[in-house]
Amino acid sequence: LDKPTRDDWHKAAADLQLRTKAFIDGAFVDAASGKTFESINPSTGQVLANVAECDSADVDKAVKAARTAFEDRRWAGLAPGKRKRVLLKFADLIRKNKDELALLETLDMGKPIRDSSGIDVPLVANTIAYYAEAIDKVYDEIGPSADDTLSMVVREPLGVIGAVIPWNFPLLMASWKIGPALATGNSIIVKPAEQSPLSALKLAELAAEAGIPDGVFNVVPGYGETAGQALGRHMDVDLVTFTGSTEVGKLFLQYSGQSNMKRIALECGGKSPHIIMADAADIKTAAYTAAAGIFFNQGEVCNAGSRLLVDASIKDEVMEHLATAAGRWRPGDPLDPDTRLGAMVTEEQMERVLGYIAAGREDGAELVLGGEREMVNTGGFYVEPTVFDKVTPQHRIAQEEIFGPVLSTLTFNGLDEAMEIANKTIYGLAAAIWTSDLSTAHRASRALRAGTVWVNCFDESDITVPFGGFKQSGIGRDKSLHALEKYTELKSIWMKI
Ligand code: NAD
Repeated sequence: LDKPTRDDWHKAAADLQLRTKAFIDGAFVDAASGKTFESINPSTGQVLANVAECDSADVDKAVKAARTAFEDRRWAGLAPGKRKRVLLKFADLIRKNKDELALLETLDMGKPIRDSSGIDVPLVANTIAYYAEAIDKVYDEIGPSADDTLSMVVREPLGVIGAVIPWNFPLLMASWKIGPALATGNSIIVKPAEQSPLSALKLAELAAEAGIPDGVFNVVPGYGETAGQALGRHMDVDLVTFTGSTEVGKLFLQYSGQSNMKRIALECGGKSPHIIMADAADIKTAAYTAAAGIFFNQGEVCNAGSRLLVDASIKDEVMEHLATAAGRWRPGDPLDPDTRLGAMVTEEQMERVLGYIAAGREDGAELVLGGEREMVNTGGFYVEPTVFDKVTPQHRIAQEEIFGPVLSTLTFNGLDEAMEIANKTIYGLAAAIWTSDLSTAHRASRALRAGTVWVNCFDESDITVPFGGFKQSGIGRDKSLHALEKYTELKSIWMKI
């Protein structure tokens, strides 16, 4: 359908055939224990599917299959042009199955269908295609050594990769790992979040159809403490590439130290400052962008602009525009193409967000908008777009990642104070500043301790530019050609001539 309506999407959802088994060594299989866990549709609170609950036995089976596939070079040993063709076909199949993948994403984690079909799935296909194209375009190096020697600096795949994925962008975060891991010749085991396992299982079907050999691409749905930990502690996994909370990211560093010193790449949490200077050229656009920066994806975004820092002299004007802008973000049925704010991923996450709203009030911040659960329908987990004013840097809602549609507004006087407040958290994922002064833009871009700085915009991105965090927001970068570095080992080869 060209422009599906809400009814079209509901009808398509009712007709969906769900993949619920694990995908190991080229086959869909039950968990060794025979156990399953429930995946809940957060827009209704109803059970969507019972999914294979993998634990260490299944992870071990997947690692063995991945290792065998790596060692017999059934993937890494293919000519680069051949691997490129397979991954391009994979990207093409993702495009062809766009509606189904988008539906799975929306049903499983509650995000609006306009985003899953208009943003997430197209970006996933684009990511896979980008890394497919890189395969036959990235060269190794020859060192500048003396006449009687030849030194070669080559990159080799690491081997077996574990990819542990969060629920907020289940497919997109997986694609940021799968693309570069497969492009560089590794085998991969994807552990989707237990809240949103369904789209990764559909992806496995498409990977097999594209011709990715058995054992090279595996998906083990299950809980973090069992399946996730088993990957982290496995003696034969070479790298865990993780996106999720800072708390769990730190656990993976421990798992590594307690097992085989596997490499750990981490994309973790954030508390990104969105700064509006008094000299911003267009305060209305800045305020509307600040609203989008926190309410997009229900605020369940690692780089959400969750702290709004406003120069005291323009605060009232900004707050007026913000209130109007927030009106465009009413919670609604995620399958309605007009909905911009969907359901929170789980009841627990909704309660966590409401708990932070209560903490904001207790700490003395002023609730100026929203603050309640919204009953879009019975059983769904929705939270109103919420704005706090009079937040101080010490408040919990100014320091801790809420991961919901809750904006904390702080005021400052001048650039120096803005920079001081902006940098005063444990996180450093992203930051934005609105100013019409070129020097202010440059000074802030240097002073902000964040992996990404946006000037007069927010959320600009594409696959060619790296993404990742300073400080406790992570270790390493996803996206761009730089991501290839973490899936490879450097080898230096010396030859006497
Ligand atoms: P989470 O840390 O709870 O879970 C992430 C993954 O880790 C899941 O697959 C989960 O099953 C697994 N896990 C949980 N406990 C584990 C354990 N004890 N051992 C091993 N694995 C375990 O995070 P989440 O709630 O799914 O996602 C939200 C978090 O992800 C937020 O903090 C957000 O900022 C972060 N995030 C970061 C980025 C980024 O690129 N920096 C992108 C998206 C999300």
